[in-house]
Amino acid sequence: MTTKHAKLGASSSERWINCPASVKACEHIPNTSSNYAAEGTAAHELSEKCLITAKPAAHYLGLKFNGFVVTDDMAMHVQKYVDYVNAIGGVLLFEQRVDFSRWVTDGFGTSDAIAIDEATKTLHVVDLKFGQGVAVHALGNTQAQLYALGAYDMFSHIYDIDFITMHIHQPRINNVTDWTVTVDELMVFGEFVKQRAEIALSDNPPFNPTEKACMWCAAKPTCGALAQKTFDVVTADFSLVAEPELLPVDKLTPERVAQIIDNLPLIESWIKSIKEHAYHLANADQLQGYKLVAGRGSRKWNADDNAIKDALTALGVDPIKQELISVAQAEKLISKENKSSFSNLYETLAGNPTLAKSADKRPALKNVLDDFEQCKI
Ligand code: SF4
Repeated sequence: MTTKHAKLGASSSERWINCPASVKACEHIPNTSSNYAAEGTAAHELSEKCLITAKPAAHYLGLKFNGFVVTDDMAMHVQKYVDYVNAIGGVLLFEQRVDFSRWVTDGFGTSDAIAIDEATKTLHVVDLKFGQGVAVHALGNTQAQLYALGAYDMFSHIYDIDFITMHIHQPRINNVTDWTVTVDELMVFGEFVKQRAEIALSDNPPFNPTEKACMWCAAKPTCGALAQKTFDVVTADFSLVAEPELLPVDKLTPERVAQIIDNLPLIESWIKSIKEHAYHLANADQLQGYKLVAGRGSRKWNADDNAIKDALTALGVDPIKQELISVAQAEKLISKENKSSFSNLYETLAGNPTLAKSADKRPALKNVLDDFEQCKI
C-alpha cells in the first residue's frame, strides 16, 4: 500500500497513461479515502502479519487492524491470498517499496508481495485487491507492470531473472489472474510508459476522455473534455435544444439542470434503444468490435430439498436457516475435502447473452436471442 501519493502513481497509471492532462486536472483535488479503502488497508496489514508470522488469519479474529475488527469473513478471504503467496514459494518479500523512477519521474509504490524463484529465473509480483466491485485482470495491467519494473530494477542486480509474472488476487470475488512476460517485453512497456509520463508532465498535455481513463478520475464532475465528449456523442444525431451547450456539472445553472432533467427520460430511452439495437446487430455479427457472449451463469440445486438437505448433512453442513440455503452460501461452509462431492449437488445455468468487446476471452454466441426472453441491457 502506498503511504505517500506519487504524482504519477502506479494505481492511477491507467488514467494518466490514457489521459495525460488528468495529472494537472487532479492535482488540486484533495485525496479522499473511502471506508472501502480503509478496509483494504486493514486486509493488507492482516495479510502481511500472517505472512511474516506464519500464523493463520483466523489467529487474529476479533483483533483490530487499521480500525477494522478481523471477522470470519475477512480472515477467510485474507487466508486465500496468504495461501496463494506462500504457494508461489522462493525468496519472499512483503510490502516492499519499489522505485520505478528510471521510467516515471518520482515513480514509486509498495508491492504487496514479491517472490523470486531462482530455479525458473522468474520474478513474481503479487497485488492483493480487497474490493469486490470491478474485477481487475493481470493481463496488460499498467499498475502491475510499473511495480514489476521497480521490482526488476531492484533485484536484477542480485538474481538472474528471465521472466516476470504479475499476479492480481481479488479474494472476495474469487478473481485470481496472472500474466508472464519476458524482461524484453517488460522493457518495451517501460519505454512506452516513459514517453506517456513525459507527455503527462509537459506544459500542455492533451485530454483524452475514455472509459478506462475517466472511471476513477477525481476531476470527472468538473471535466470539460469529458462533458464535451459526452455532448458530442449524444448530440451527433440528436438535438435536445435549438443551440445546445454542455458545461461541467458544477457550472450548470439551476434552469439548465431542470432542462436536462426534463429531457432525461428521452435520453435514457434513446440510450436503451441503442443498446437493444446493438444486441441485434451483434447477434447478426454486424457490430464491428463486439460480439454476444454468455453472461454470468448461476447455480441451483439439482435435486429435491430433502435430498439436498440429507446430502449436506452428510457433508457436515447444517443446511437449515429458514429455507434451503443457496449454492453460494453452502459453498462457503463446505470443507476442502468435501468440495468434489459438493460439486455434484448443483448445476451451473448459462447466463443471458451480454454484450462484450471482441477481445473478450469468452466464445461468441450467434443467433441466440430468440432463445431468451430478454437480454441484459
Ligand atoms: S475526467 Fe477523463 S478526460 Fe477528464 S481529466 Fe479525468 S481522465 Fe481526463
